[in-house]
Amino acid sequence: MPSELINNYFRTNSLPHIWCPGCGNGIVTRSIVEAIDNLNLDRDKVCIVSGIGCSSRASGYLDFNTLHTTHGRALTFATGIKMANPDLEVIVITGDGDCSAIGGNHLIHASRRNIDITTIVYNNNIYGMTGGQYSPTTPKGDKGTTAPYGSIDTDFDLCNLTAGAGATYVGRATVFNPKLIVKLIENGIKNKGFSFIETVTTCPTYYGRKNKKGSAVDMMRYLKDNSINIEAAKNLEADKLKDKIIVGELYKNIRPEYTDEYTKIVDSF
Ligand code: SF4
Ligand code: MG
Repeated sequence: MPSELINNYFRTNSLPHIWCPGCGNGIVTRSIVEAIDNLNLDRDKVCIVSGIGCSSRASGYLDFNTLHTTHGRALTFATGIKMANPDLEVIVITGDGDCSAIGGNHLIHASRRNIDITTIVYNNNIYGMTGGQYSPTTPKGDKGTTAPYGSIDTDFDLCNLTAGAGATYVGRATVFNPKLIVKLIENGIKNKGFSFIETVTTCPTYYGRKNKKGSAVDMMRYLKDNSINIEAAKNLEADKLKDKIIVGELYKNIRPEYTDEYTKIVDSF
């Protein structure tokens, strides 16, 4: 990472980070910073809120207004912050378990409200910090500490979930392609409404090891070989897309934003 990005946006006294060698979390975190830098946002006007999990440690490393909250509740804190100060650029960092299990209800309601928050989920398909339990995004049949013979649950497609619930900007990228992550985050921040960016990331320590996915490099190669852009995916039959990771800008819409609606109704009395 360029040293100016580290010096400008990281709390250098909080480093080194705790992430395992080969973990993709650093790639996503760097991409967030790069998007903020590209947009030239005022650091004091950015508020980063995280929940609990490996990815949520990022808020401690980043030098903005930051809040490391409780498990699954990042979006509730973020909603309060945005309501109290709509001028802040509120960004939520969360994991797949944090946002779609413990915090699943908050995710669908933040989407439904179309509140102007950009949520970035680091989806490693497992609970990393607590020891490899399977999560709502663990692919059906894959193993976790709590699914030693393979999960029988159908996994969530988080992008379809949030788009269906009312989010107005939804995109997905993998850590193999950080440039796309940066672009999606930039456009998500620019969207006046609820933006959801899924970053598919690597956890060689738990998801990889439990499912015999090989080294971190093998996992990265898998992401490269199995991603397909949304435009190319549109021309393929559904059975050809099985097990593919569809990436790009998946969904966009324009709807009234929640804090605007709230301000309007308060001002009308
Ligand atoms: Fe990354 Fe997995 Fe290690 Fe957590 S447990 S830091 S997600 S590799
Ligand atoms: Mg996870």
